[in-house]
Amino acid sequence: MKFADKMLIGGELSGGSAGGKLTVEDPATGKIVAEVPSANEADVDSAVNAARACFEERTWTSRLPADRAAAMWRLSDAISADAEEFAKLEVIDNGMPLAFARATINGAINGLRYYAGLCTKLHGLTSDISGAGRELHAYTLMEPVGVVGAITPWNAPLATVINKIAPAIAAGCSVVVKPAEQTPLSALRLAQLLANSELPAGLVNVVTGVGGVAGAALANHPQVDKLTFTGSTDVGKSLVHASAGNLKRLTLELGGKSPVFVFDDADMSKAIPACLTAIFANSGQVCFAGSRLYIQRSRYEEVVERISAAAKTMKLGNGFEESTQLGPLVSAKQMQRVLEYVESGIAEGAELMCGGRQFGESGYFVEPTVFANSARRDIRITREEIFGPVLTAMPFDDIDELASLANDTTYGLGSGIFTSSVSTAHKAARRIRAGNVWINCYGMLDKSMPFGGYRQSGWGRESGLQGIEPFLETKSVYTML
Ligand code: NAD
Repeated sequence: MKFADKMLIGGELSGGSAGGKLTVEDPATGKIVAEVPSANEADVDSAVNAARACFEERTWTSRLPADRAAAMWRLSDAISADAEEFAKLEVIDNGMPLAFARATINGAINGLRYYAGLCTKLHGLTSDISGAGRELHAYTLMEPVGVVGAITPWNAPLATVINKIAPAIAAGCSVVVKPAEQTPLSALRLAQLLANSELPAGLVNVVTGVGGVAGAALANHPQVDKLTFTGSTDVGKSLVHASAGNLKRLTLELGGKSPVFVFDDADMSKAIPACLTAIFANSGQVCFAGSRLYIQRSRYEEVVERISAAAKTMKLGNGFEESTQLGPLVSAKQMQRVLEYVESGIAEGAELMCGGRQFGESGYFVEPTVFANSARRDIRITREEIFGPVLTAMPFDDIDELASLANDTTYGLGSGIFTSSVSTAHKAARRIRAGNVWINCYGMLDKSMPFGGYRQSGWGRESGLQGIEPFLETKSVYTML
């Protein structure tokens, strides 16, 4: 397969000014499959300048909203026409199963279409004001915030890139996006489509490179008005400092340690498969992975046994094999990190029910892993985000205990509740401090619904009507009549 290997800066495909390279691995084999540009500060500066010029010259915002909407929709059609190729790139780059990759590409296409629709629906309000003591005509305008720097992680590469680009350009901003260094291939393929699209030069720029160089250059750049970041909580905190120089607006979608509660009246034939998907989808490399499982005490042992038995039968393999349920972790580093967490769990007294080992002769596979009984709330595997296929199971008694367990974390991204009682479900939903609550399901997402986290899971929301707000400024206009 031939990979796109050029960045997009000011409408031109570019190998970068100094010729630096990143190597890209297939995590299912550990083999290097591509070399792509590694942007330096000068490349990021060129991309930001191109975005700034596009914004200041109003080459995008001077087009009618309906024309912008149509252009965005046609870009979504172009991605859709190549959807299978994009999905395969994600499998090669990230290791995810092909069916999961297809779902993420579909999500990206839907995201572009959702925000294409908002181009024609951005409006302010009018107000009859009293303060001036006489009649005035007062109204607000919604205006783009300016140049956006977007920095994304490796677990759903194209979908996260589009999650940033779509609301930004719908709002009228121009963008420089830096995808994760582990998974740049789909963003570079997107760069090719963008170069041939009717979007103006400089509206969307794509730079590939490492976080400490290209990411940091973007985060610190004085001509970037807003940063939108998805990634780890630690890097998110560093961006708070980086943004201080010119007081960039900042949206952060960060980590999680999401709890799932199974009440004793739950339909276990549905709850158990959903709990398995909650933690093992994308090999646990999901920010809202349901990594803490709480089971009401009377069913605790039975459910732990059933979950562990099912986990043992899950099929690990190359994402291109149709039977594969779990692909590899994204890198050797991530695999080592996960295996170290497993060791720490055993050392701190948790009971390993299944998994816990590297799998296969090559690539970065880790067996689906379940800890039980002694998976206490004060040990690392129950407190820290592992970002791998590791589940800790614990018993709970009632809703009061649910609230205390759910909220005993620095995070607040996802949560799940399985019960056949409507009342229990909604009482519990109100007690959990998290941005997303799934009842009798887990991980459903839709472009019309806001997504984001409480506490150290982030700042702000993506998706839905709320998802465009961080890309807009409000201007108040007063007219003496
Ligand atoms: P990461 O924070 O290491 O990297 C994310 C991005 O930040 C990459 O593009 C990286 O190059 C860049 N980066 C790294 N250091 C930087 C710096 N100093 N300045 C600027 N940019 C820098 O995260 P990751 O390991 O790629 O992804 C996993 C993390 O992402 C997990 O914690 C996960 O929970 C989180 N995540 C959150 C969401 C969400 O929506 N809340 C979604 C997916 C992943």
